[in-house]
Amino acid sequence: MRFIQTRGADAAKPQTVTFSEAILSPIASFGGLYVPEKLPELGKEFLEKHLASSYKELASDMLARFAIDIEKSVLDEALALYDKFDTPANPVPVVKVKENLYVSELYHGPTRAFKDMALQPFGVVLSSIAQKRGENYLILAATSGDTGPAALETFKNRANVQVACLYPQGGTSDVQRLQMVTEDAQNLKVIGINGVFDDAQSALKRLLASVEFKAALKEKNILLSAANSVNFGRIIFQIIYHIHSYLELVRQGGIAMGEKVYLNVPSGNFGNALGGYYAWKMGVPVAKIIISSNENNVLTRLITTGKYDLRDSKVLNTTSPAMDILKSSNVERVLFDLFGEARTRELMEDLESKNVYELTKEELAKLRECFDADFATGAEGKRYIKETFEGEGYLMDPHTATCFKAYTTCCDPKIKSIVYSTAEWTKFSPVIANALTGEVDAEDIIALESISKTAKLEIPAMIRALFSKPITQGTVIEKEDIEKEILNFL
Ligand SMILES: *Cc1c(COP(=O)(O)O)cnc(C)c1O
Repeated sequence: MRFIQTRGADAAKPQTVTFSEAILSPIASFGGLYVPEKLPELGKEFLEKHLASSYKELASDMLARFAIDIEKSVLDEALALYDKFDTPANPVPVVKVKENLYVSELYHGPTRAFKDMALQPFGVVLSSIAQKRGENYLILAATSGDTGPAALETFKNRANVQVACLYPQGGTSDVQRLQMVTEDAQNLKVIGINGVFDDAQSALKRLLASVEFKAALKEKNILLSAANSVNFGRIIFQIIYHIHSYLELVRQGGIAMGEKVYLNVPSGNFGNALGGYYAWKMGVPVAKIIISSNENNVLTRLITTGKYDLRDSKVLNTTSPAMDILKSSNVERVLFDLFGEARTRELMEDLESKNVYELTKEELAKLRECFDADFATGAEGKRYIKETFEGEGYLMDPHTATCFKAYTTCCDPKIKSIVYSTAEWTKFSPVIANALTGEVDAEDIIALESISKTAKLEIPAMIRALFSKPITQGTVIEKEDIEKEILNFL
């Protein structure tokens, strides 16, 4: 399998690259992204065959169909990391919450959010490519809370890779911060920044583009890469759980094989939703993909009006912070798939130069054949958390809760829906405690105890342990000092 470019090829970069190359430098010509030349077609036999398979068997076969330049032994080692999930036989439980509504729980990995689904195996793959090439990589990560812990966890003590992880001091939950600052490994550096997430993100982008920084790294024999969610090395692992979730519904007798379902995805950078779109194109029967957002509802507006408009948008801080995003990078891959490289380049250039692009009526109709969208406010989300807990006895996090709004506004209730749950209640406990009992501004540890009592749920051991672990990564600096700090660490 070769990989092609969403904005076409310039003269400098090769027309097509291997999977390894797309992973190591994920930015393609004209600032575009890499996509598979042709998605493998799985067909009904594939789905039938894997009704009896474990998650890993399904994953292994799907990856084989992509024919990427990674040895099977490495992929097997990568998939073995799903054994660390709560229930290794089925790392992604799918729970029936009410008639026709199922929740696929993507958060049973070591850091309790769905980033583990892709980053756990990705760490093995990236480290193995680096070792094979005899190269050393610095992986930069900027996080608003979930990517950082997952990236640190996956790269911890891996050969030929070091990680510098930037987070906004005061901008994450206590649990998220503790997950990072208690990480203890020689190859990891966690840096708190006096600023907001955008400052961390801008610093990361600046470093990735800086010739001087790369030269300074080169002197130390280190190359630069990023583990962000446009990396196809992450996307490929996010197709698998959509196929798995569909098969789970068949196994549970919720649907007959071949019956179409909605995939309802709480979306930020659109990696999760893109995985569902690819699964659909590869043969999973899907009615539509529902894109759920919070008050940062640029995706809702794109899918309902055809306009991606950032002209007077500012990122709002919400109760579902992992979706507080305006530039949803992976949408580009859908544009490419639907409208081709020339049009994608034109649209993305409009967005970069004018902060807006607009689809034609025909294009919007085509997009809407695949997607529908709605957003929920923080107050609505909390109401869904409370109602669903009190009505169905099911506790969910504020990101997942946004899907319950779109479920009522976008879906034909006769068709079964799969809602994707992207975080455990433990990661956003103050919001959930507020939703359940009305208590405000509780620290995480107090909110955790209170939810645990109200919902009769145990606080998982790894979450509880965070509060007594020594802080090994105490660095907090001004954003101007990031580069110096990273070079010092190296
Ligand atoms: C990252 C994240 C999302 C958004 O996922 P995308 O793939 O970026 O759309 C949603 N919920 C949680 C909890 C997350 O960590």
